Amino acid sequence: MTAGNGDSEALTQTVYRTCPLCEATCGLELRLDGGDITLVRGDRDDVFSHGYLCPKGTALKQLEADPDRLRRPQVRRGDAWSEVSWDDAFAEIERRLTPILDRHGRDAVAMYIGNPNVHNLAGQLYNRVLIQALGSGNLYSASTVDQMPKQVSAGLMFGTGLSIPIPDIDRTDHLLMLGANPFASNGSLMTAPDYPGRIRALRARGGKLVVVDPRRSKTAEEADEHLFIRPGTDAHLLFAIVHTLFAERLVSTGDVGDHVAGADEVDRLARDFAPEVVAPVCGIDADTIRRTARELAAADRAAVYARIGTCTQEFGTLASWLVDVANCLTGNLDRAGGAMFTKPATGSANTGGTPGVGRGVRFGRRHTRVRGLPELFGELPVVCLAEEIDTPGDGQVRGMITVAGNPVLSTPDAGRLDRALASLEFMVSVDIYRNETTRHADVILPPEGALARAHYDLAFYQLSIRNVANYSPPVVDLAPDEMAESEILLRLANIVAGQGASADPGALDDAVVAGLVQKAVQRTGSNVEGRDPDELLEALSSRRGPERILDLMLRTGPYGDGFGADPTGLSLAVLEEAPHGVDLGPLQPRVPEVLRTPSGKIELAPEPIVEDVARLRASLTPGRNGRMVLVGRRDLRSNNSWMHNLDVLVKGKERCTLQVHPEDAARLGLTDGGTACVRSRRGEVAVTVEVTAAIMPGVVSIPHGWGHGVDGADLSVAAGRPGVNTNLLADGDLFDPLSGNAVLNGIPVTVEPTPAPVPA
Ligand code: SF4
Repeated sequence: MTAGNGDSEALTQTVYRTCPLCEATCGLELRLDGGDITLVRGDRDDVFSHGYLCPKGTALKQLEADPDRLRRPQVRRGDAWSEVSWDDAFAEIERRLTPILDRHGRDAVAMYIGNPNVHNLAGQLYNRVLIQALGSGNLYSASTVDQMPKQVSAGLMFGTGLSIPIPDIDRTDHLLMLGANPFASNGSLMTAPDYPGRIRALRARGGKLVVVDPRRSKTAEEADEHLFIRPGTDAHLLFAIVHTLFAERLVSTGDVGDHVAGADEVDRLARDFAPEVVAPVCGIDADTIRRTARELAAADRAAVYARIGTCTQEFGTLASWLVDVANCLTGNLDRAGGAMFTKPATGSANTGGTPGVGRGVRFGRRHTRVRGLPELFGELPVVCLAEEIDTPGDGQVRGMITVAGNPVLSTPDAGRLDRALASLEFMVSVDIYRNETTRHADVILPPEGALARAHYDLAFYQLSIRNVANYSPPVVDLAPDEMAESEILLRLANIVAGQGASADPGALDDAVVAGLVQKAVQRTGSNVEGRDPDELLEALSSRRGPERILDLMLRTGPYGDGFGADPTGLSLAVLEEAPHGVDLGPLQPRVPEVLRTPSGKIELAPEPIVEDVARLRASLTPGRNGRMVLVGRRDLRSNNSWMHNLDVLVKGKERCTLQVHPEDAARLGLTDGGTACVRSRRGEVAVTVEVTAAIMPGVVSIPHGWGHGVDGADLSVAAGRPGVNTNLLADGDLFDPLSGNAVLNGIPVTVEPTPAPVPA
């Protein structure tokens, strides 16, 4: 594995690739002139997206060509940055990181994995090698700012963290959606290219979409019914729906009934959440709650789907749990048109081992040093990261590795984290930009461009509304001095493992693959169980890097060829012959085989969740958020913080605005286009006001991921339209205790007009 020689053929060619920019996995048709993209459009023959794409997809051209994108390693001395060779960069890392590990132990170096890693095959496969080599307990990711509650509830109910029921929207008649705006996001924890088209098809066939959201989002505008809800009260509403199902004898668990445990306990818990009790808390009247429950139960095929707004709140795990409780109690879990389980081609934790039973999930195997919050799925809540850096004592974090992350813009209490990162003894970042976070790094290692890397959506095909597999090979060579991300991560792994900066990354890669093959042949029920590992390694020997591991995963996955055991099965070679992807069909019922709980049951009332209901019950106080509360929002042309440096996506009307209802604006003296000061317990921002009836009274909204233009970052376009950083307002002390997930929706704030500047 070496840096490339830049011999891209100067040919005009058309290639097909999966868009790596969001969860929808759209197929793209790209025209290339040499290594440059000259045209991007939707791949009409893609088996999943059928030609759909959004404005972000076409911006791949600008992203690849962005002059601010780093192309060679950067080293910082004081405030001055200089380009260095790869060897010098790794030597610097070894020189400065190794002593921290030697003197203070493994936990002294933390790692933060940003959201783009889930869109990135090399990141998915090789971050875990680096994590293992580092051996630090201080592992953090974007998961605890957006989705951990869903993983926790899925783990407790079904046995693995990604056993998340996915709404079968192509076959459903009724979709109840909370806290999600797929017309802007294109779907989340639910892979469905052309979500808008699928929603319109649902309605065209007579189905109904009900959206519950504190904002009348684009999705809410397209719905049959929109219910405004007070932020942070989705669990209350869902409990009232469950209450109604039991009270009106509408419960029917359908085909999964024999595999359900805990329904009586849910009935008991729901009794405190009658619609009349919940209505003044959530702002939806009792009759509407009852009707919503009845319609859900009466629909032939229905699904409840909830996303970011329900996760990023103080009752995130309870809300996530109640979504699947409602699906189950209405007989819609695991049936066509309901909420179903994907079976991904590369396998997952719920396709291996003994079908129908497992070890379940365990949390809290370690705790954060300062606040004592428990570990979840191997990582710690990111609300604790800043204090782990800036609180002196044994185990203090002194060094940091970030991979494709910008936590200064995307995690709570951003001001404190910003200062904490500046105090580190050493920081290395793998990133294509010098952004608000990586400006604190001492070394930045930029990976190769999107066209020079293999792509396969390992994560999102586990959450897809159809079973699909689509592989995109690299279509250009590495440019001179460019290095593949897989090699960067392996070299870092060699350094932190004490092997040295010059150790052969290829040898580590070989060892990784040998270990994976060994596991595959030893796994009970595997399609290569008991086979000779050397035979499999020989069959994989023509490939290297991410492709070799991907081939192994496909061949040993649920549709795999088993290295010859099933000649019609999947392998990477099969996908290479299918540039528009392979459709493996609609989702199929998987209960009980999908379950990995110790009981072999769907656990409707897991103990940690039952215990947390007392906290929800205690919150049944009308108007308890007496002040204004802040929520986020998503924009079609934005994806968290990292696509704001592309003029094609940020031009036009300002999007980082404070949305406020006309009644509140009048009461507070705010004017459309004026400036407001928004203040929380943690900080304040001054932001442009947008007065709109699309937001409910008492709630204001600012999109997250903005706040550019700070010293030391090098994002010239973003600096021209900086917006404000809402995470300066988010409070690290506010989190969902079961998941450690940050509260980013429902932050108490005060809002007042900012006085106009006095003329000089
Ligand atoms: S919806 Fe997502 S995957 Fe599809 S083109 Fe847009 S950014 Fe890419």
